[in-house]
Amino acid sequence: MPPIDLRSDTVTRPTAAMRAAMLAAEVGDDVYGDDPTVNALQLKLADMLGFAAGLFVPSGTQSNLLALMAHCERGDEYIVGMDAHTYKYEGGGAAVLGSIQPQPLPQAGDGSIPLDAVRAAIKPIDPHFARTKILCLENTWHGRPLPLDYLAEARALCDARGLGLHLDGARLFNAAVAQGVPAAEITRHFDSVSVCLSKGLGAPVGSVLLGNAVLVEKARRWRKVLGGGWRQAGILAAGCSYALDHHVERLADDHRRATDLARGLEARGLKVEATPTNLLFVHVPEARLDALRAAFADAGILASIGGPRIRLATHLDIDDVAVERTLAAFARSLGLAG
Ligand SMILES: *Cc1c(COP(=O)(O)O)cnc(C)c1O
Repeated sequence: MPPIDLRSDTVTRPTAAMRAAMLAAEVGDDVYGDDPTVNALQLKLADMLGFAAGLFVPSGTQSNLLALMAHCERGDEYIVGMDAHTYKYEGGGAAVLGSIQPQPLPQAGDGSIPLDAVRAAIKPIDPHFARTKILCLENTWHGRPLPLDYLAEARALCDARGLGLHLDGARLFNAAVAQGVPAAEITRHFDSVSVCLSKGLGAPVGSVLLGNAVLVEKARRWRKVLGGGWRQAGILAAGCSYALDHHVERLADDHRRATDLARGLEARGLKVEATPTNLLFVHVPEARLDALRAAFADAGILASIGGPRIRLATHLDIDDVAVERTLAAFARSLGLAG
């Protein structure tokens, strides 16, 4: 039986058709701007999301860092959620490599940063303070799309106070599919957006940073400085382009399966935090964790079981049979029949 990997949507393997597209890719040297497949991917996504330009990079972490370094100078500041990826999970890169100070703020349960708190955190222009330059949001937030009216209000605040607005859209397309809107309806509020192709969309490697021409040129310079200038990257871009053409609408299947999983776990008496997208969080009593680890090992299921709140992710490589096998393993660990 094939293993069932619920740790993350980054674990997807390229499909045979995606590999064929990668094999056939026309390539050139991207540092010279010569790779036609990279250029086409950047343009395709820029068009799709309403931006002038895009930059293909190896990871979402680099994409977010390049955005911060393009928006900010040494001694500037970004406002960010206290649990956001761009603050908490990127090694402090903005401070370490960009000399950019984070101003983290507590987030509401839906991932939004209350705008009154943002307003209060914007520093006066005075030599005592770092210069507040941008606000960073994250969408989806732990599987939840940020409300569209919140995005409009955040945009209005940034306009009124002269701030830029950046989106860590690692799972942007999950948000768009769940909300039933074109992704551009989300991205139109932002000055820059980072999108991951290597998560639910199923490409092996790659993120794209979108923005205006000036921002993307600054980011391109910093990408080279960070050692991220790559050469025949079209082989990877072809996988990303294939993902955009074939794997966006099917995200609805991942969302449906996450809901099936959530309902099945609830039916077996477990507390579940379901979301409208591909992530769910299940609470397993501490005393049952070892039994769950054993049942998963037995059934060839991979999950990060660090404590009683366990995140599960559905994706391209999780089908209906995998959902059934996962529910059966949970049931066994709880001493239930099935
Ligand atoms: C995955 C992820 C990123 C980028 O991660 P990489 O592993 O560097 O590609 C950024 N933000 C969020 C919210 C993510 O989930």
